[in-house]
Amino acid sequence: MLKKILIANRGEIAVRIIRECLDTSVEAVAVYSTADSESLHRMIATESVCIGRPAVRDSYLNMGNIIEAAKGTGAEAIHPGFGFLSESSEFARKCREAGLIFIGPSPETIDLMGNKSAARELMQKAGVPVVPGSDGIVENPDQAVEVAGRIGYPVLIKASAGGGGKGMRKAADESQVREGFLAASLEAENCFGDGSVYIEKLIENPRHIEIQILADSHGNVIELGDRDCSIQRRNQKLCEEAPARNIPDDMRQAMKEAALKAARAANYVNAGTIEFIVDKENNFYFIEMNTRLQVEHPVTEMVTGVNIVREQLRVASGLPLSVSQEDIEIKGHSIECRITAEDAFNDFRPDPGKIAFLHFPAGSGIRVDSALYNGCTISPYYDSMIAKVIVKGENRNDAIRKMRRALEEMIISGVKTTLPIQHLLMYNETFIRGNYDTGFIEANLGVLLEIYKAAGEAVTSETVGEENV
Ligand code: ADP
Ligand code: ADP
Ligand code: MG
Repeated sequence: MLKKILIANRGEIAVRIIRECLDTSVEAVAVYSTADSESLHRMIATESVCIGRPAVRDSYLNMGNIIEAAKGTGAEAIHPGFGFLSESSEFARKCREAGLIFIGPSPETIDLMGNKSAARELMQKAGVPVVPGSDGIVENPDQAVEVAGRIGYPVLIKASAGGGGKGMRKAADESQVREGFLAASLEAENCFGDGSVYIEKLIENPRHIEIQILADSHGNVIELGDRDCSIQRRNQKLCEEAPARNIPDDMRQAMKEAALKAARAANYVNAGTIEFIVDKENNFYFIEMNTRLQVEHPVTEMVTGVNIVREQLRVASGLPLSVSQEDIEIKGHSIECRITAEDAFNDFRPDPGKIAFLHFPAGSGIRVDSALYNGCTISPYYDSMIAKVIVKGENRNDAIRKMRRALEEMIISGVKTTLPIQHLLMYNETFIRGNYDTGFIEANLGVLLEIYKAAGEAVTSETVGEENV
């Protein structure tokens, strides 16, 4: 087993991984920017190294400084977390060249799957259904119009290097395709340094269902079941649950088999996720593979009892997975709410600042993954996600009740957060019934905000009326 690893990340995910190291007697080296010198991940690590100035390119994306920190502290491996360098094949390669283990798949696999357009082609060859769309990259607006005409409107223009919902544009006609092509390319160039785009048919308000994969270097590939991540704002997930509700058994089985096929086709090793969208007729289509640990991995941990980060450390150490497919049994139901420091009444603008008072919920079946502490400062330089509240219930209704209780108990003061919105979501009839899709937030956010406004900070079961679950 690895003895010492460096965690090339910050915030809640760095804390999550460092805790795992400490629990398994692995020494954890934190890295931090000058803006993060008082951050929790630095304080709980075995040791820590400053890697540069606050801007991400100077610190958390600074490959040279991170690798130097690993070598200087005698770390054998680097865990990249999610975001930042987690899907950079260049970084994975640099680790290898420096004699360090990158905790994730090989750079070759990242190249194969990180290019979303190339991944589509590979999946098609492997017999995994993909959304109808372009064969590879679309070079210019004229070609985009030609492709869109062939697959039929409406379409979605997507960045091949895309992530986090960035670099995507809907188009319902020829002029929108021309506009969308340029806008998506520009955004992709700015966000990812690669402006190439491809086109998919726009599936109207699909569900987003994904399968968690674990694979080791001994040829074992297993799935840990599904998650529904359809509660999204601007193509970014807000709330996730496992298992997905209202899907027929044969379809669930087919999705798992497709995901295993996809992982094998990519020679996948370590933890990864196969994302699908599902249309109204329950046809499912591969959209992408995330070649890393996912934000919402805790819901899968809750219902399977498998510790995904611990398995990642085992796999990176060259050990086989500690569980086989036969061991995997889905028990109960889990929900995760992502809490961000954002002003819901101001187009969700980030609201950094100092935490004046903090109280986290606790009790049976409740987990909070966060880097917050009383009096800490939320920096304006980084992602605004500050906490994930995860619950496990005996069944879905039990999980919803637990999440209501957890969010009612939780207090974060000093900055504006999306906690009240998440809390209201747990009382929403459509959510409770479980008939939602990716169009849910667009259709319901206005109503949620109105209730929130009327209730002020005091969103409780009294203000919204107890919906029976
Ligand atoms: P997940 O399914 O795990 O939520 P996302 O695509 O939403 O995956 O990304 C996970 C996290 O990484 C989010 O916090 C997101 O903001 C961040 N992220 C994703 N892609 C990028 C990127 N290319 N650059 C910076 N941050 C990213
Ligand atoms: P990212 O890399 O940014 O996570 P994805 O390809 O995973 O991008 O798509 C993010 C979200 O955008 C999906 O979960 C879904 O809600 C929506 N989406 C993506 N492709 C399509 C499509 N072809 N039709 C409809 N919605 C889509
Ligand atoms: Mg995605």
